[in-house]
Amino acid sequence: MKALLALNPLIWKYRGRLFLGMVFVVFTNMFAVWAPSMIGEGVNALNEANTHFLVPMAEGQSPTLDQLDLPRTLAFLAKTLGWAWQGLDAPTSREAVLHFVLWVGALQAVFYLLAFLVKGGFSFLTRQTIIVMSRLVEYDLKRDIYGHYQVLDSSFYKRHDTGDLMNRISEDVSHVRMYLGPAIMYSMNLVVLVALVVTVMLSIDPVLTLFALLPLPFMSLGIYFISANIHRKSDARQKAQSRVSSFVQQHIAGIRVLKSFNRERDAAKRFDDETTAYKVRVLDLVKVEAMFMPLIVLLVGLSTILTIYVGGQRVVGGHLDLGHIFQFVFYVNLLTWPFASVGWVTSLVQKAEASMNRILDFLDATPAVMSPDKGGRKDGLSASPALEFDGVSWTYPDTGIQALKDVSFTLQAGENLGITGRTGSGKSTVLQLAMRMMDPQEGHISLDGTPLQAWNLDAMKRDLGYVPQDVFLFSDTIGRNIAFGQGDADDQMVRQAAQDAGVREDIERFEHGFDTMLGERGVNLSGGQKQRISIARALVKTPRILFLDDCLSAVDTETEDAILDAIENQEASCTLMVSHRLASLRNADRILVMDEGQIVESGTPDELLAAGGLYATMFEQQKAEQD
Ligand code: ATP
Ligand code: MG
Repeated sequence: MKALLALNPLIWKYRGRLFLGMVFVVFTNMFAVWAPSMIGEGVNALNEANTHFLVPMAEGQSPTLDQLDLPRTLAFLAKTLGWAWQGLDAPTSREAVLHFVLWVGALQAVFYLLAFLVKGGFSFLTRQTIIVMSRLVEYDLKRDIYGHYQVLDSSFYKRHDTGDLMNRISEDVSHVRMYLGPAIMYSMNLVVLVALVVTVMLSIDPVLTLFALLPLPFMSLGIYFISANIHRKSDARQKAQSRVSSFVQQHIAGIRVLKSFNRERDAAKRFDDETTAYKVRVLDLVKVEAMFMPLIVLLVGLSTILTIYVGGQRVVGGHLDLGHIFQFVFYVNLLTWPFASVGWVTSLVQKAEASMNRILDFLDATPAVMSPDKGGRKDGLSASPALEFDGVSWTYPDTGIQALKDVSFTLQAGENLGITGRTGSGKSTVLQLAMRMMDPQEGHISLDGTPLQAWNLDAMKRDLGYVPQDVFLFSDTIGRNIAFGQGDADDQMVRQAAQDAGVREDIERFEHGFDTMLGERGVNLSGGQKQRISIARALVKTPRILFLDDCLSAVDTETEDAILDAIENQEASCTLMVSHRLASLRNADRILVMDEGQIVESGTPDELLAAGGLYATMFEQQKAEQD
């Protein structure tokens, strides 16, 4: 239960609702317990009428009213209602007795109904407080988890898969909610109801109470085992189901690849396997679920039979009134669900515990990249380089691949720096380190003369524009995808950014222009269009330093020229542009050439060409390809 204790502050936050809920639980159960006594007392009254009036009358004697031992409440009510029953004299005719019996029955029925109406009202209020509380806590938890997702660094996301992370926020939270809502509600309900019912039962007849309650704990135990089994099996079913859905999702998303490789039949066969596995799991589950109700009915039936049998003997022995047997039967039924819920709730709590552990593990994960609340650019430091790498080495912890070895370079304000090199040489890694997506194991990186670690991340990223190598666009309008770079960007800024990125005309050719939806239910863009929208997203914030990671690879030369000019004309910016295509780096003041994680050459394009090293080789190769 330790993990669940972590929820106490959240419960405490909504203590008002919980307390009200408890009060409502008590009221609900008071009326639930009161209602069956109407039945019991009603039967008793009829029985009295029979023994004291009808039997004596049939034997020719004259009955008297004081022999009639009506429940006090009823007699009182009868009087106050002004129910004149022949001046409260003894009934002299059979009709008068039947008249009396009818009245008693009608009154009891009305009270019984009223009790249930009031009980229903209170149980509605119970749900409105306790279940609502659990929903509020669920909301808080989800917000906390999502907030934590936002601060964790990219290495965390490499270690965990998306499905697992989605589960934390949906399934695990909903298990915890089941503990906060139903589990707490039913537990309170059980305690209050058992206390009330057992008190009433004991006050009527302790011996019968013992027999009536005997089978119920066995029911709790049985339900617990069945519930635990059901949970296990439904987890297995759940997993099989997600496999089926992710299979279908993947194959629908990749339907073009699937069809062009002519793999439909193979896919159908694998789908068949997946659904068969799912079917087996479902049937497995259904078998256990099918035992749930019969077990309850069996044990409640047993309880009822015991009540009637033992109760009957007690009535014959003169220890009990006939009506109380009826009352007990009602109580046994009333206790059915609470006792069944003991087993159910126990397994809910176990599940919630496991889920809460997972949630806590996740909330305890600290981001590898931390930043101070304040700190950033110091004025008057413009003389220092805009960006400086000093002996930086980086090894990807999950693969052990050393991507950078002792990399040092500077990017001066106003400079246009290019990085090129073969695939896998570490170019993207340089940009990711400059964006502080991770901290280097060795060496230092500084921005405006201030080490990255001393920058507040928000302040730092406000100044940086980054166009990643893999384009990611949200399923949203084109306009909002561009404006994403700068939360408060207006239409004019978005249009200008699109213009600079050379994609404005393309966008305006769409029927809905900047309001065109992208993604699953929207249009599909060409690779080059996507790249340019991704560039516009970085340009819209007019960054001081722009990082471009091979983002012109799918753009034709003419458009590339226009974009490069626009970037060149950006005010007070310096750029760090990665490209494996040397032609894209023609505006660069200086180019760094990387190979196997190291900078092997650097200089102006002409110098590099003259040096006859890796750059010159790449140049020749690319020229030959073009020719
Ligand atoms: P390209 O021109 O193909 O984009 P690149 O120069 O950008 O290549 P990087 O992406 O920086 O190369 O990768 C450098 C090395 O680091 C490669 O060997 C790659 O396998 C490895 N690497 C890159 N990203 C990761 C990662 N997330 N986890 C583990 N290893 C990685
Ligand atoms: Mg790369």
